[in-house]
Amino acid sequence: MRRLLFAANWKMQIGPGEARRYAAEFRQRFTPASDRDTWFFPPAVSLEAASAAFQGLENTQIGAQSIYWEVKGAFTGAVSAGLAKAAGARVVLIGHSERRHVFGETEADTARTLRAALHEELVPVLCVGEKLDQREAGETALVVKRQLLAAIAGLSANQLASLVVAYEPVWAIGTGRNATPTDAAAVHTGLRTLLADAGVQGTRILYGGSVNQGNVASLLAEPEIDGVLVGGASLDPVGWATICAGGK
Ligand code: PEP
Repeated sequence: MRRLLFAANWKMQIGPGEARRYAAEFRQRFTPASDRDTWFFPPAVSLEAASAAFQGLENTQIGAQSIYWEVKGAFTGAVSAGLAKAAGARVVLIGHSERRHVFGETEADTARTLRAALHEELVPVLCVGEKLDQREAGETALVVKRQLLAAIAGLSANQLASLVVAYEPVWAIGTGRNATPTDAAAVHTGLRTLLADAGVQGTRILYGGSVNQGNVASLLAEPEIDGVLVGGASLDPVGWATICAGGK
């Protein structure tokens, strides 16, 4: 049985002081349970504060929203896997749609970043998802297959044992629109088959894209949906605690 995973992507919001207040509120409202994990992805400047503030909360990890694949050097503004880890990150988002489509990260970049994360023993959450025109052209399965295989090519099943995948249709992120549970589950099934072909078993596959308190239960009711990656609805600790308490 795969454990449920609730991942909060705060994006470019919630500084260190706010992260401490958020964590205090969340801890009052949420009781950890043995069947689920709660992961928080603060902006890089809040990693250390969030790590300290969530310290000791069972099954909770703090993660980086992005890392750069080089180990160190003259890369102004970038954060390496090692630096993120030193600030408290244990998990990391790889290839989030905003990294791909706002910052222009390529599939080759994503592959390098995944390797850098694994090298530092950060647990990677690889994000894949199609744009609206690709969906309308019936290319969803093709696009997510290409993104997944480009990222994992050359890595062994052993190296990929900790991998988490997030299916996030680009047209659903921050838009209030989301894939139906059935459509999302079909994409998850396709991804799981590709992972099985690569010898990778037991991977948790999350859905992301305008998940909220109203739609989370129907998404998690799908056996193929192992959890959710949430932006907007994770910014309020009270609402997020409610989301994290629901499911299967
Ligand atoms: C995300 O940031 O990965 C995301 C899914 O955002 P939202 O929940 O706001 O659509």
